[in-house]
Formats: sequence, C-alpha cells, structure tokens
Amino acid sequence: MNENNLELLRHSTSHVMAHAVTELFPGTKLAIGPAIEEGFYYDFDSPQTISIEDLPKIEEKMSEIIKQDYKFIRKEIKIDEAKKLFKEKQEKYKLELIEELEKTGEKTVTIYQHNGFIDLCKGPHVESTGKIKYFKLISVAGAYWRGDEKREQLQRIYGTAFFTKEELEEYLKKLEEAKNRDHRKLGSQLDLFSIHEEVGSGLIHWHPKGAIIRNIIESYWKEEHLKNGYQIVYTPHIASEEIYKISGHLEKYSDLMYSSMDIEGKPYRVKPMNCPNHIMIYKSQLHSYRELPIRLAELGTVYRYEKSGVLHGLMRVRGFTIDDAHIFCTPEQLEQEMLNIFDFTVKFLKTFGFTEFETYLATQPKDFVGTQENWDRATSSLRNAMEKTGHPYKIDEGGGAFYGPKIDLKIKDVLGRAWQCATIQFDFNLPQRFDVTYRDEDGKDKQVVMIHRALLGSIERFFGVLIEHYAGVFPLWLAPVQVVVINITDEQKEYATEIHKKLLNGGIRSELNIKNERLNYKIREATLNKIPYILVVGQKEKNENKISIRTLTDKNLQSMTVDEFLSCLKEKIQNRS
Ligand SMILES: [Zn+2]
Ligand SMILES: [Zn+2]
Repeated sequence: MNENNLELLRHSTSHVMAHAVTELFPGTKLAIGPAIEEGFYYDFDSPQTISIEDLPKIEEKMSEIIKQDYKFIRKEIKIDEAKKLFKEKQEKYKLELIEELEKTGEKTVTIYQHNGFIDLCKGPHVESTGKIKYFKLISVAGAYWRGDEKREQLQRIYGTAFFTKEELEEYLKKLEEAKNRDHRKLGSQLDLFSIHEEVGSGLIHWHPKGAIIRNIIESYWKEEHLKNGYQIVYTPHIASEEIYKISGHLEKYSDLMYSSMDIEGKPYRVKPMNCPNHIMIYKSQLHSYRELPIRLAELGTVYRYEKSGVLHGLMRVRGFTIDDAHIFCTPEQLEQEMLNIFDFTVKFLKTFGFTEFETYLATQPKDFVGTQENWDRATSSLRNAMEKTGHPYKIDEGGGAFYGPKIDLKIKDVLGRAWQCATIQFDFNLPQRFDVTYRDEDGKDKQVVMIHRALLGSIERFFGVLIEHYAGVFPLWLAPVQVVVINITDEQKEYATEIHKKLLNGGIRSELNIKNERLNYKIREATLNKIPYILVVGQKEKNENKISIRTLTDKNLQSMTVDEFLSCLKEKIQNRS
C-alpha cells in the first residue's frame, strides 16, 4: 500500500480520535494531530486527566463515528472567518496557528468537517470516516505546546491505523515484543543499571552485572583498536573555557554544555567532546608526513545537556562514554582511511550479532566552513570508499555537519528497528582553528585532515540497544553469569562447590546455588536471570564424577565431565559466541 495513503489514513484517524475525545471529555481544547512514522498522535489540553484506562472508551466512541461513515468535508474560508469560528469554539491553540498563518500572508485557511467536528487542517484526508477500519490507540504521554517546556503542558494520545487487519495485528505483536525487550525494564529485572533522581536524571549507574558486560565490550574494543593501528589515550574530564573558545564549541554548542565553574578565577567546563584534547596530544610534537595517519582512540566520557523531556533510559542520557577516535591524515590518505574505518566498524558490530546496516552519506549543507575544493575531495573520497566496500548506501543530501561530510551507520536489531550507532565524520574546521599541521615531503607545513569516528556511538546507548536486541539473553561471551551450579540434595553440596571452584579457576563466571530450596525453584530463578548454562548435580552425577547440563533453550540434560564442559565453554567464548 502506498505510504502516502497510509499517512492519509492515519491522519484522518487522528481527527476521529479528536472528535471522540472532545465528546467524552467536555472542555478539551485541540492542539495538533499529525501522522507520524508508525501511526499518529493528537495533543489535547483537557481539564480532565486522560489515562491509559480511558483508551478503550475512546476507541469505542471512535468506532461509533466510523460506523456512521461521515464524509470529511473540506472548506476554504477567509482568515477572519476562521478566527471568528475558532474563537467562538474557544480553541486557543487553533487560533494561535491561524494568527501565525496570517502573519505569513495567508488570506484563507482550510477546515475539515465531519459530522459536527471541525478542525483546522491542510488535509487531505480519506473520503469518509468509514474508510478507517483497523486502528488502535497505543499510549498516552505528556507533551508541551509547540514542544516548548515554557508553554502549556498537553496530553498526547498515540495511536495507529492500517489498511488490513493482518498489518495491524503484526504491528501490535511487534510492539508487545518491543515492550518485553524494553531495556529499562530488563535493566532493573536483570540488575544491570539504574538511574537515581537523587543523583540526577540521565546519569547512569552501572551495576556489577552491567559493568562486567561493559568491561568485556571495552576490552574487546581496546584489543581491536590496537590491532588496527590505533593508539589509546586518556584525557581529563574538565577543561578551561579557553580550549572551547578556540574549538568554537562555546559559540556553537553552548546550549549542550553545562555552565562554567570557577577554578582560581578561571572558568572551566566539563567536557562535551574529546576532540580538542586529542588535538592537544597530536600537537604536542611536530609530525612528519611519514608518521601519518595517527589514530588516537579513547573511551571518552562526556557530559551534554539534554532536556529532561527527551531523556530515555540508556538511549538518551546526560553523561556518556563515546568510543571515540580522531584520525589525523593527509588528504591523499582519506579514502583508504575511510575504507579501513568502514570495514573495522562492520566487523566490530557483527561480533555483537548485528548483520544488517543502513548507511547514509551526508553531503555538504548550505552553511559550511572550509573550501569547496576540500569538500569536493572529501565527499568524493567518501563516495569512492563506499563504492569499494560494496555496501549499499543512501545519500542524505545536505545532511552533513557544517564542518564536513559524514557517514552514518545504523544497525538493525532483531525487530528490524534501526539504531544510529557508528559515525565517521570529516572535519575541515578544527584543524584550521587549532592550526593542526604535518610537515610534508617538500618541507612545508600543511593542514592535516581530521576524521572523528565512533563505532558504537556511546557505550550507554549501545548497551541499551544490545539489551533489547538480545532481550536480555546475552550470548555466552557477554553473559554476566555464564553458569550456575545447582545441587539436588544436601549430599552434593560439597561436590557442587568443588565444580563451581573449578569453573571459576578456569575463568568462567560461575555462580553457586546450594541454598536449601527446591530444585525447580532454583532452575526457575536461573532461567529468570537468563543464565546460559545450568549445571545440575545429583547423587548420580557425584558418583560418576560428571555434571548434567541444561541450557536456557534446551531442557534436555547433557552429561559430561567438568573438563569437557570447560573446554567447550572456552572455545565458545574465544569465538565470541
Ligand atoms: Zn486533518
Ligand atoms: Zn571528535
């Protein structure tokens, strides 16, 4: 079905929902109700609180309106007439919109009416309410008028609509699945991380089980970077404002930065980016063209101001660690370097079970710094490199940063949702501002080309994606607890302890559960904690000096010796599976 038609259907459904809401909640004022990627919403200013429990009632009312098959009637009316109409209806938000249209020189506006319900709207819509068949209201949320937290707080209802019953059902199933995988829910259930209002919104606490996963990711990251010719560095978390004046961050990104603190009369800031620090390291020596490319990598923690309304678990936070790197090279090295980074990225992400990517090449925007020649060269080397990789990519025309073109890589999770992760960004701005050079063959100092890149984006966000991708069932190499050893009766307590110790010695993250509880209960607990291997030892196992193994997915017991089991686990972990 045509995308536009679906948008039409969904937007029309939002009118019907608004109609139903105004009937059920008298005094409700209408804000706006657009179609969005997966459905639609409508924002209301209602004297009553609309909760999730009200949705079935609203759906029922909508079904009545749909059944009547009212025509959506379009009318073009003069601005003055529209102002009068919505003033009478006391629709102050619509009035504000009309006044704004008036300022842009519009003489008329369009309204749409079905039955007694009138809405200010450009349209178009489906022919009549009866065209809407398969819809569902999904959730309620808070929103601000015009997204401005200084304006009125509104209530938003999200819904969706499809042309067929099957599509709707499939969508709802996916939504349910996504809910079960919600990293915030699993994060607390599996004891991975927490956020505390007392500490502040958007600031993540990694619990031991989350931290061990982070540690594994970071070790692997460091190992691979060293193999790929990067050098690992550490830089401080605060810096004098001086550096952000030079970099231009104070001027361009001060909205994102936390306010300054006074240190011996000088203003300092917590760092929003690692780039200036890496430049300082590069600049601490003269570099010959022979040394390039120089690749400096850091798991660099930064702090950026995000409005509390957009914070979301691990996905949108105020403090995060970028798996950052800055590459200093010559213009001639750009293309090869780009190829290296791309291959590295894909290989790295595949290890975590991501095999599908969406790649975008974002080109020169209207506002830019640097010379046209540099832009053209950089863009064509990006393009050439992408062609060589053989990976399909889309062009995001004009979507580059003001300081250079970039490649964005989104990963697709099991549910087919795309997540922005890797970014490879060229920069003509900072090398100029900081005068970052190399001595070329001809003895002249020339400006380096700088690439900012991250493979995962931020560790926090990537972890969030990872939790949802695996639904908390981490593969063996990442699982915080890899094995739990369970005894059946008291007589195997010692034997179970012995096995547990052997596993720990073998480098396996093993847990021992010899509590005086029923076997089924212990197995259930291990299953809830999503521990990949459960070792059950009873009298038979003890006598044979063996263990019985069950996995999360396979209840059939497999019998082997501890040494056999250990070598099998080690091989899997080595292969990162
Ligand atoms: Zn409309
Ligand atoms: Zn950077």
